[in-house]
Amino acid sequence: MKVRFLGAAKTVTGSCHVIEAAGGRFCVDCGMHQGNKAIESRNSDVRAYRPRELDFILMTHAHIDHSGLLPMLVREGFDKPVYCTGATAALLRVMLEDSAHIQETEAQRRSEKYRRRGLKNPRPPLYTVDDARKAVNLLRVVDYHQPFEPAPGVSTVFYDAGHILGSGTLRLEIMEDGQPLSLIFSGDIGRKGALIVRDPEQPPIADYIFMESTYGDRDHKNESDSADELAEALAWSYARKEKVIIPAFAVERTQEILYCLHMLNRDGRLPGDMPVIVDSPLAIRATEIFQNNYELFDDEAKKLLADRENPFALPNLRFTLSSDESRALNSTRGPAVVISASGMCNAGRVLHHLKHNIWRPGASVVFVGYQAAGTPGRKLVEKAKKISLFGEDMEVAARILTINGFSGHAGQGQLLDWLAPLAVRDARLVLIHGEERAQNALAALIKQRFGMDALIPGYLDEIVLEKGRAVRTEAVEEAAHPAVNWEFLTAEVERKWAIFKSKADSLGDRPWVEQTDTEEALAKLDYALTRLISRL
Ligand SMILES: [Zn+2]
Ligand SMILES: [Zn+2]
Repeated sequence: MKVRFLGAAKTVTGSCHVIEAAGGRFCVDCGMHQGNKAIESRNSDVRAYRPRELDFILMTHAHIDHSGLLPMLVREGFDKPVYCTGATAALLRVMLEDSAHIQETEAQRRSEKYRRRGLKNPRPPLYTVDDARKAVNLLRVVDYHQPFEPAPGVSTVFYDAGHILGSGTLRLEIMEDGQPLSLIFSGDIGRKGALIVRDPEQPPIADYIFMESTYGDRDHKNESDSADELAEALAWSYARKEKVIIPAFAVERTQEILYCLHMLNRDGRLPGDMPVIVDSPLAIRATEIFQNNYELFDDEAKKLLADRENPFALPNLRFTLSSDESRALNSTRGPAVVISASGMCNAGRVLHHLKHNIWRPGASVVFVGYQAAGTPGRKLVEKAKKISLFGEDMEVAARILTINGFSGHAGQGQLLDWLAPLAVRDARLVLIHGEERAQNALAALIKQRFGMDALIPGYLDEIVLEKGRAVRTEAVEEAAHPAVNWEFLTAEVERKWAIFKSKADSLGDRPWVEQTDTEEALAKLDYALTRLISRL
């Protein structure tokens, strides 16, 4: 049996594990890669997934970094069942269409930009709304705890991962050559005590454990203080008559923030005249899905409901559906809370809110979720002084805060607790869905506490599973991380600079307007170089 890592290997996005076993081929998750341009270019070539040769897909949960390439695989010929829980299916129906809509809008913008510049052949959308609709037609709903057989010799069960509505930990039993082998894919493991969803469930032991490690190097500090921190952030910008921008995943994080604001309001800690705006059509639809799935809530949320309280209701709450309404928010001054996607500021309406507020002293940007490497969100969390939005450099004058207590992921201690009952003799551990630093820290602790070695695969790596052993086969490094050609680029810049200098002597003889145009262009180049140098 083989497992190949097509994403979430020494990184958190692009989750996809392709398994070859029992004479078949299938994958767990098929997420979108998110980060800078080089990382996201992995989305446009799915040949390594071999979509036509996949027999089925198992989807742990609806987040785009676990599901976002499904329409792309469908476009490239995948037409087999995709198994997930009912809530995941309901969420995917709106999320994949939304993702396709973003792809189409961005492609449209690119094409206009190309035409304005007289260029041809802009990159087409990764996939269209039509592809997304075909993808959701493949969804097959399975219940938690109900074993099912997606293929002969493969038995699967979903357990509640407590991460978002419908999220699952998968346990598979696979018969190969008359031998049973069991595998656990943790999916994203939720944080115990999180609002709304239940705590993560513990699956029975298995031979191989593929475990997420997002927060492998840290615990969430002061989780219980999250509501206080949020109240303080609101009061700070309210006093300065400015906005609080909360970039949030449309699913789960947005509802959790609404729930928290609901509780703050009940305690009289939300200024009565401070509007709360959810500016994400997807978040609005997702909130409706939450309201249709109350049975999946934890006991505390259920108790609120029993008392006839809607945990997502607020007196001053507004949802903005159209982009005109969204734009109007930017021309209205005065304090407000704006919750908008994407959560990592790499796309979507939140970018416009940042553009209009990031340079305002008195405004706040409150991060409530994980920020992947390479995203604008990560740069802000790491205290960037300037940020580039829509091709414009902007000063970061707003207050930037991170509230970890809203995280949808287990912290380090909770990950260890989750693993403890599974850390039995002969069980093998593979760490996925985490940055290398976090994974190394977690691996060291696991070794210390359970005497268990952890394998940390890289992008495109492949491992062979046999009972009691994991054999690692190296990826072709060139394919995983194509080398940057520094020599060529540097020589090119030097060559062109020499040409410029050879012509510069005669610049003083040109007409004054032409000279000042050239001066302006050179000043821009100088500024770009200054920025580049300051980054090194
Ligand atoms: Zn997730
Ligand atoms: Zn994830």
